[in-house]
Amino acid sequence: MSLPLEMRAVVFERPGSFAVRTVPMPRPKPGHALVRVHASMVCATDRKILAGKFAGTVFPHVPGHEFSGVIVELGPDARGPSPGTRVGVEVHVGCGQCARCREGLYNLCLNYGKVETGHAHIGFTIPGGLAQYASVPVAALHELPDGVTIEDGAWTDNLGVALWALERGRVASGERIAVVGPGAIGLCAAQLARALGARVMLFGHGERLARAARFADETSEDPSSRFGTFDAVIEFAGTADAARDAIRLARRGGRVVLGGATGQGVELSGLDLSTIVRGQLDVLGSLANPTRVSARALPYLASGKVDVRDLTTHHFPLERFAEAWDTFVERRDGAIRVMLHPQEK
Ligand SMILES: [Zn+2]
Ligand SMILES: [Zn+2]
Repeated sequence: MSLPLEMRAVVFERPGSFAVRTVPMPRPKPGHALVRVHASMVCATDRKILAGKFAGTVFPHVPGHEFSGVIVELGPDARGPSPGTRVGVEVHVGCGQCARCREGLYNLCLNYGKVETGHAHIGFTIPGGLAQYASVPVAALHELPDGVTIEDGAWTDNLGVALWALERGRVASGERIAVVGPGAIGLCAAQLARALGARVMLFGHGERLARAARFADETSEDPSSRFGTFDAVIEFAGTADAARDAIRLARRGGRVVLGGATGQGVELSGLDLSTIVRGQLDVLGSLANPTRVSARALPYLASGKVDVRDLTTHHFPLERFAEAWDTFVERRDGAIRVMLHPQEK
């Protein structure tokens, strides 16, 4: 198959400025596969990238880290699924050699941002999937199970992020779980926790929470009435208020997983430390997802125990990226995730 010499891509040209442009077609690098992108979403992290808040991002930059597609070609020395395979993408690929990578913790790779070591943070430090094609390390690819549509496959990484938080929190069948933050990842976490057999109460506010009600067993706007009651609490809101609530919601001896505040600048104050010490809480951070966690999450999608279709609230062709971006950023019409379709006109 002959591939075009050029493609269309979203380009973050410099901090605060983007456009949809024609750019040279990427060639698959050693160890990479060339993926024809069929579905690609934007998330709040893309706002931070556009604002120039990620040190590892070099402008001009092709963003996009929540995507799926079809392998069209393998690069040199790439041992991976064959061309034609439908794949979802996991975002963090470690160098594979450092102490953390040897533990499988690609998300904590000690060679972050050093492309020459093999490290790749797709859509952050290397070009991503808000484009018609992307060269992606085969280590990042997950073959989509039968029964998972290519659109749902764009949630591969998000589901890995949510499942990793539950694994950190040792969430088990029969437990009472609180999820703080009814955004895309929080709603994946709520559904996965229920799929694991837990009973889930979702905390948030207003219309966002009301829309999310069907993804949990119960919802509440008032954490204070439930302080000290949950076996495990999963936080994906990213604010200091949410972190304080999360810690207070845990029962004595319970677990708290904080996953929302991935950027710098959110400080926790106003919490009595005895809540943690006398409560003997496990307070855990959770960052993204180590290698292969997404592989454990995809079967829940295939079995229908997790539904991402209703979380994918808006769809646009890639050419209308500016409109898609505004829809997401302004949360128009209750936008949760906005999906771009790079192969559609
Ligand atoms: Zn994201
Ligand atoms: Zn590493």
